[in-house]
Amino acid sequence: STDTHSKMVKICCIGAGYVGGPTMAVIALKCPDIQVAVVDISVPRITAWNSDTLPIYEPGLDDVVKQCRGKNLFFSTEVEKHVCEADIVFVSVNTPTKTRGLGAGKAADLTYWESAARMIADVSKSDKIVVEKSTVPVKTAEAIEKILTHNSKGINFQILSNPEFLAEGTAVQDLFHPDRVLIGGRETPGGEKAIATLKSVYAHWVPDHNIITTNLWSAELSKLAANAFLAQRISSVNAMSALCEATGANVNQVAYAVGKDTRIGPKFLNASVGFGGSCFQKDILNLVYICECNGLPEVAEYWKQVIKINDYQKSRFVNRVVASMFNTVSNKKIAILGFAFKKDTGDTRETPAIDVCKGLLGDKACVSIYDPQVTEDQIQRDLTLNKFDWDHPIHLQPMSPTAVKQVTVVWDAYEATKDAHAVCILTEWDEFKNLDYKRIYDGMQKPAFIFDGRNVVDLEKVREIGFICYSIGKPLDA
Ligand code: NAD
Repeated sequence: STDTHSKMVKICCIGAGYVGGPTMAVIALKCPDIQVAVVDISVPRITAWNSDTLPIYEPGLDDVVKQCRGKNLFFSTEVEKHVCEADIVFVSVNTPTKTRGLGAGKAADLTYWESAARMIADVSKSDKIVVEKSTVPVKTAEAIEKILTHNSKGINFQILSNPEFLAEGTAVQDLFHPDRVLIGGRETPGGEKAIATLKSVYAHWVPDHNIITTNLWSAELSKLAANAFLAQRISSVNAMSALCEATGANVNQVAYAVGKDTRIGPKFLNASVGFGGSCFQKDILNLVYICECNGLPEVAEYWKQVIKINDYQKSRFVNRVVASMFNTVSNKKIAILGFAFKKDTGDTRETPAIDVCKGLLGDKACVSIYDPQVTEDQIQRDLTLNKFDWDHPIHLQPMSPTAVKQVTVVWDAYEATKDAHAVCILTEWDEFKNLDYKRIYDGMQKPAFIFDGRNVVDLEKVREIGFICYSIGKPLDA
């Protein structure tokens, strides 16, 4: 036949979100011989991927997309057509926490995954490798295999687990230079061949020793384990920050001294107002649920504490703000600098800023919010909805009309802080380090407070200006 020589491998990715978009853009850039289609049911998302304003903010991403879009990278809502044509189908749909029914509040909701799998089985006319890119519970591949094989018409599907380890804010760099690429598959000839095929994609730019291959269950569980360990580090240092404040120790000094131990290492030891993002809490809850289902309640309890400390850290922060401001923030303007869950992203899913703002609003404060990447719409939505799941709002719980009036969103840090009684720094954006704090102080009510939830300000400098400061895990003002 004619297509034996240089038949272009075709990849399709279902789900054009924070993971699907960047990962596929980098595959397209690094593999000019592979055609990549990223498909999604969300029309606005695909429209944005095809425009000059991408749906997500990620440093370096615009550049990567511009280089390949229209050449070997395509964004489309024609889901079935591209799935049908692909040799490898990545599934990168959202896997949020279930909100009702069995396992509600803990288990992963695999509705989107299941409907993607059924659609793949339905439209496929040739053998395919189906890759779990989403984070899923361990043993999900077994379920996916069942759905595919029971619905296919004599077509061979090989399931691989290839969890994504990118971090938002550094996604492009993480994809260019991954610590590791993990591929899990069946230990059968078909499985091994599928692993080799996927490996050959990553081998375009990832060194061989950084590509790990395992069985399916190890790969699936490793992703949950990695997120649990990362979140645990934050909760560990945050737990220490409370003790630092109580004793006069400085959490930065403690973290530095502890991290110097090469067994522990210096990274990811920053104390903060708490972790956020769409993954840590969801994946730990999922892990807890899996432990409980496997008759391991003690292990479940252990991981639950990571979330409990995170909740404690957020409420501790709010209590500190209110207590410092003479036990009332009623009708006081409080500037919120930073709303995203971390710097260099516009993502606000599960951001601690939501809980902090809600806590302050509950005490009748007026908050004026500034974040360089988050829109007013997004903030109003986050504060209005009880739980928010991208395009699928679940619990609509409107804020009271008076509470809505208590929130303003502005596009400038100086505007946000004007006439405010206090400044809360909730995201570690670089620009917050270099603000003119003298100018901010002069525009504020006195006494003027700074509550630094990310340890970004130079305490000595701002105290000199006249601010009363609280910084997580640091000795308090006399
Ligand atoms: P996301 O919500 O940004 O994107 C998911 C997309 O899938 C949405 O655009 C949605 O419209 C689409 N979708 C859902 N069902 C579909 C269907 N049947 N057909 C076509 N499209 C469909 O989510 P995300 O942040 O990209 O996360 C995706 C997965 O990757 C999750 O399992 C998450 O846990 C995991 N993950 C996320 C990160 C991260 O930093 N965000 C990192 C690693 C892993």
